[in-house]
This record gives sequence, C-alpha cells and structure tokens, in this order.
Amino acid sequence: MLVSMNYLLSVAQKNKFAIGAFNVADSCFVRAVIEEAEACQAPAIISIHPTELSFLTNEFFAYVVKRTSNSPVPFVIHLDHGGSFDDVMRAISCGFTSVMIDGSLLPYEDNVALTKKVIEAAHPLGISVEAELGTIGSTGTSVEGGVSKVIYTDPAEAENFVTRTGVDTLAVAIGTAHGIYPKDMEPKLKLDILADIVNRVNIPLVLHGGSANPDEEIVSAIEIGIQKVNISSDMKAAYFDKCREILSEHEWWDPNVIYPDCIVAAKEVIRTKMKLFNSIDKVDLYHQ
Ligand SMILES: [Zn+2]
Repeated sequence: MLVSMNYLLSVAQKNKFAIGAFNVADSCFVRAVIEEAEACQAPAIISIHPTELSFLTNEFFAYVVKRTSNSPVPFVIHLDHGGSFDDVMRAISCGFTSVMIDGSLLPYEDNVALTKKVIEAAHPLGISVEAELGTIGSTGTSVEGGVSKVIYTDPAEAENFVTRTGVDTLAVAIGTAHGIYPKDMEPKLKLDILADIVNRVNIPLVLHGGSANPDEEIVSAIEIGIQKVNISSDMKAAYFDKCREILSEHEWWDPNVIYPDCIVAAKEVIRTKMKLFNSIDKVDLYHQ
C-alpha cells in the first residue's frame, strides 16, 4: 500500500524503529527495494533525487505507484532533496506521497518561507513535507552533493523552525555526509545534539548520508530518536560491483542475464540495513 510519510513514520516513532529510504535510479533498484521489503515484511521508502527523477522521467512513476499500491507492505514514494517549488510540484504530479524541500543552504528566514510555501501546497493533498536544517557533509562521491564542512543543526533553531513551519519531518545534521567516506576519514555522529533536538521537537527525524557510518552509531541514533535513514551509496556500490564483476567475466549483453544477480547484491545491502534499523517484520503494525 502507498501511504503518507506521516503515517509511516508515526508508527516507527511509537515503536522505536527506523525505516530505510532507498534512493532508486532505475527499475532494477525499484524491484530490489520493493521485493526485499516484501520478503522482510518491512515498510520502506522509495526515495528519488531530482537527478534520478529527470533520468527516470515522469511516466515511470505510474509503474511505481501501481506496484506499491498493490503490495500489502506500506511504502512511501518520496522526493529527496527537492531544490525548488517546481521540483516539488513535479513530484506531486507523478504521485509521490512525500516531498523534501531542501532550503538548508538558504538564509534561515528564506528556508522557513520556502518550507511554508511547500507545506501550503502539499498538506491539502495529504502529502508530507520534510525540510532540512544545518548542512549534511559531502564526501565528493555522491550525486547528492552537500558541503565539505558539516554545519550541525542548532537544537533551539530546530524547535523554532518546526513550530513556525508545521513541517512533518526534519533532516538533522549531526555529522553524516553523503557518499562513501574516503579511507582516511572517519565519520562520527554527535549524538548529544540529536538528544537535545529530540527533547525539543515531537516530529520524526531523518538521518541523511547514512551509508558507511559504524552500525553502533546508527543503532544509537535510532534509540535516541531517528525514524528515517537515507541509504543510497552502499546499495548502489554493491549493485555495480557485481555488475563490473559479471561484465569482466562474460561477453553478455542481455539485461535479463546480467542484472538479476546485481539486484540480488543490492537486496543483500537492503536487508542488512533493514535489520540494523529494526524494521523487519513490522508490517502487521500497519494493519491494526
Ligand atoms: Zn540527503
């Protein structure tokens, strides 16, 4: 079933687990996420960055909407890092049930104003809105970008932002970065900042750049109060590692021969993350 982010994450918040938001870039990744979510009985978020939306084209989402609507597992189709009001409107017209508007690089008051404008358009349609405060770092290996230095979310500002905008979920910057970390760079989360934010706001919180952080840190963040963790690089790397391996060994050219094992490789990462987020076997909580 296709549900709003509000509903999906409210159950996670009540039951203290988190849900993976997996960035899909083609139908192979859509299949990997949906089929693994069904196998694990785990709710999941299909996340699409504007660059991925451009690559897939609007019509592709008729398939994603139909496939998720026909499943007993709850899914959200979510716009990741919407950069403008137009990005958001395009996603809504494609059937997305949640949008992110990322005004984190704007001056604070402009971020508030843009988020409010998106909420005024999205909420009457039953669509949830995620915003971002502070800046997620960049490792230089992801299309999502980011900045080279992380600016941590200010907990008092988060409280002010949530009160003034009425946003549904908030991406917080607590030391993660998009992409896969170089070998000499060790990611470290500031969990004390997260705890302070959790004490001040009641809405579900989002961790971006969740690939490659130590598992214990992710588990601690979920225990403190993260309900959505974005995963992109880990899953895509496993898929294309397998793809490179197959193509280096065979002269194959048929997608149906090459890609199934790549999908399996992506699914293994998805299952590992679902286990880590404690979202496996949670579907029954949505049918009560
Ligand atoms: Zn992100």
